[in-house]
Amino acid sequence: MSQDNKNKAVLILIKPDGLKKSLTGNILTRLSETKLEIVAAKMVRVSRELAEEHYRHLRDKPFFPELIKYIQGELHNRRKVMALIYWGEDAIRKCRAIAGSTNPEEAEPTTIRGSYGRILTTGLYENVIHVSSDEKEAEREIKLWFRPDEIIVDLYPTKEVVEKECKHKVWL
Ligand code: UDP
Ligand code: MG
Repeated sequence: MSQDNKNKAVLILIKPDGLKKSLTGNILTRLSETKLEIVAAKMVRVSRELAEEHYRHLRDKPFFPELIKYIQGELHNRRKVMALIYWGEDAIRKCRAIAGSTNPEEAEPTTIRGSYGRILTTGLYENVIHVSSDEKEAEREIKLWFRPDEIIVDLYPTKEVVEKECKHKVWL
């Protein structure tokens, strides 16, 4: 990674509960307090593979199967998340401060999770938003969720490849 981008990029996901509760505008407004730049954004239908890879550090936890259902939108009948990359000085710390603690009951009431999160009767933390936890995780997650050409700044080194016989949709 170029030294310029050190600690500068963070993956944000507005989870299915955030979308179902119509919190998108509100969350983006809160995050704009950071004065960071949005350098990528899209809606994503989350496959099981993507969900399991994203949360691979938790695969041995008893709540893992429910967590996968949660991020895939199966608990909220909203099979999508909004994925964004925020970019700027100290991005991870700033975004995590506004997001609040993982456990919404422990999160400061003024944070996003403290305001809008809840604990399900099963014990799962339904906490509205994902924010990368550190620089290494941010790089791993950004490369998992986005292709280089979907991001308007060069975050990490890339290479060019020519893809043959690659089927994809174009406008009619
Ligand atoms: N989670 C949970 N119970 C726990 C820990 C985590 O339900 O005891 C869920 C919660 O939705 C959390 C996600 O799993 O956001 C990922 O956990 P992580 O420890 O990475 O917390 P985060 O980085 O999201 O604050
Ligand atoms: Mg995490």
